[in-house]
Parts: sequence; structure tokens; C-alpha cells
Amino acid sequence: MPSNLNPSAAPVLEDYPVARRDLTNPVLENHYLEREAKVPTNLPKYERKPCKDFCGVLAIIGQDQDGNRIAKRLWCGREWCEKCRDHSHNRRIARWLPRVQQIESLACWTVTYPKEVRLFVRTKKSLRSQKGKLIRALKELGYSRGMIRWHFFGDQSTEYHPHQNAIVDGGYLSPGELQRQKDFIRRKLLKRFMANELGKDLEIHYQYTTSPKKIYHKLKYITRATFLDQSWDELLAAKIYGLRNNNTWGKWDQSQKWQLRHRNRSIAIMAKVEQGLHPISGKPLTWKKQLVPFALILSQDPTEIAPGYYLLPPIRQPPKNRGSPFPYLQPYLPNDRLTPKQRLRLWQLHQAEL
Ligand SMILES: [Zn+2]
Repeated sequence: MPSNLNPSAAPVLEDYPVARRDLTNPVLENHYLEREAKVPTNLPKYERKPCKDFCGVLAIIGQDQDGNRIAKRLWCGREWCEKCRDHSHNRRIARWLPRVQQIESLACWTVTYPKEVRLFVRTKKSLRSQKGKLIRALKELGYSRGMIRWHFFGDQSTEYHPHQNAIVDGGYLSPGELQRQKDFIRRKLLKRFMANELGKDLEIHYQYTTSPKKIYHKLKYITRATFLDQSWDELLAAKIYGLRNNNTWGKWDQSQKWQLRHRNRSIAIMAKVEQGLHPISGKPLTWKKQLVPFALILSQDPTEIAPGYYLLPPIRQPPKNRGSPFPYLQPYLPNDRLTPKQRLRLWQLHQAEL
């Protein structure tokens, strides 16, 4: 096709490969897209886009029965994402908080895997299976409700160091009873012949507290991210992508045993929203199925009431007969770039913190 461009513009365009794409040639177009999407890594295809591409670009809107609207920004939730790590952490705290407030005396079990065994807990399947085993063991020991989460790394090293944390209702245990419970958990989580052959076993710690301040601190500690840099273990990062790491069991229908301190106001607001309630009216929220670009939220003059949570003004009637001033341009929205898997993950993260 002959070009109608001014020839003097050509050298400038040559500096920008993007401008050279030939939309009339499907082969070249495919090649162009593939080249653009590729990041030199051994991650699966859907994971090759860096998370900044979809972290925080979409939001979800909910409203109560009176039309009071609220918006929530959707984070990618990956532990190593610097953009959303703190926000996601706070969201996890907010989600667990109403349950943890029902615990008067909180006990925390930590189960650490010896180095030789870590190799066997590196996939979603095995992490899920070990989680299930620990929950079953704790139930059998009489802990009728609890919460559980994996930490993938320790604080001291960048070497894979998986440990399970479980919080339950619990208090003082006599040395004999503590030993009995530890042995029981060990037997349920690691085959005895393996432990005997290795000459090593699971390391198990037990702590308890009745101080609300310490309980809150424990909640914060457990829900934190430990996989802080994808480069520590790229293969693991790809393998555990989409793992639902926060899990609870049992009934949580008791009254609150302690109150949050005043300085955690934004956590209290987030906890309300995460329970599906409007933070001001206290009425149940209905979330819209359609995810919207975050830019659209910003354009509506929102009030940020907690990081990533916005009150929206009432809807104005849209003016009539006003189409786009640029009808020949395709609408460009950030969510166009998301893969179905990324969109699904955002939706899942909205419903349950992964
Ligand atoms: Zn993120």
C-alpha cells in the first residue's frame, strides 16, 4: 500500500519500532504481538506479563440498598509485588480480623519442614495436601475452628523454607500434653519411615496469648508475605500461582471478645467492606459483576476512606446524545490487556484473599 506520510517523518518513525507495525500483514502482526508479550523467563505463558500490568488497574463497585456506592481497587495479590504487598497484607488482616476477635485466648502452631523434605512441598497440590493434613490433625486434637497459612521463606534467608502457621483457640498445655500433640501432628504430616530414614522430623512450635495487642500482632505476623522477590525462586513462583493460601475451618459465629485500637481505623473500615457491609450505612453491599478500570473510579471524584477503598458520589444522570468525541478511535481500557486468567484471579481475590 503506498504511504501517504510525509517522507520527512520517516526517519523519526524509524526510531520507534512500534510505529513500523504493518497491520495489513497478519504474519507480521502476530510476530509483533508475540515479541511484545515475551519476557525472557521460563514461566508459563500466562505468567509472562509482569504483574504491574494488571495490579491495581481494575476496581469493583458495590452499593447498598439505598444506592450508597463504594469502590474497591483490585490488587494482584502476589507476595512479591511491591505495588500491592502492603495493601494486600492489610486486606488479609481485615478479612481475618472479625474471626480473630472472637478468640479470647489464641494459640499458634508453627510447623517447619526439614531441608530434605522441602523438595516435596513445592507444588500447589502438595501444599494443599499438607494444609489439609494439618487441619485434620488439629481437628482431631479438638481444635474445632482455626485459620491456617503457609509462609514460604524465613526472615533470614532467600532459600525456600516452607512453614505452616495455624491459629486456634488454645492456652496453656502441660509439657506432657504438648509433647503428645506435637507427636500426633508429626505422625499425621510426615510419614514415619521418612522421618526415621532422614533422622530428622518436623519442627513444631506452640505459643499462646490472651493479650489483644499480642493477638493482633500475631494476626499481622501470620498474614504477612514472605515471598518478597520473585527471583528468589522463579519456578516456585510459577508453580504456586493461584494457590489459595488463607484458609479457615469451623464455625465463627461468636461475639467479639476484644476491640481494635483506635489507630487501626482504616483496618476497621476494610474489615467492614470485606464482610460485605457498607462502612458507613452498615447495610449489605451488592457487588457488580463487571470490573471497571481504576481510572474510571478516579474520574468520579471519589473519597479514599482506606487505602484502595473509595466512597463514590451518587450517580448523576448521563447527558443525552453525547457520544465519544473521537468515534474513530477504539476505546482503550487497561483491562484490554488482561488475560482471562488474570481477570479470573482478580475476581477470585475479590471474593477470597488468596
Ligand atoms: Zn500487585
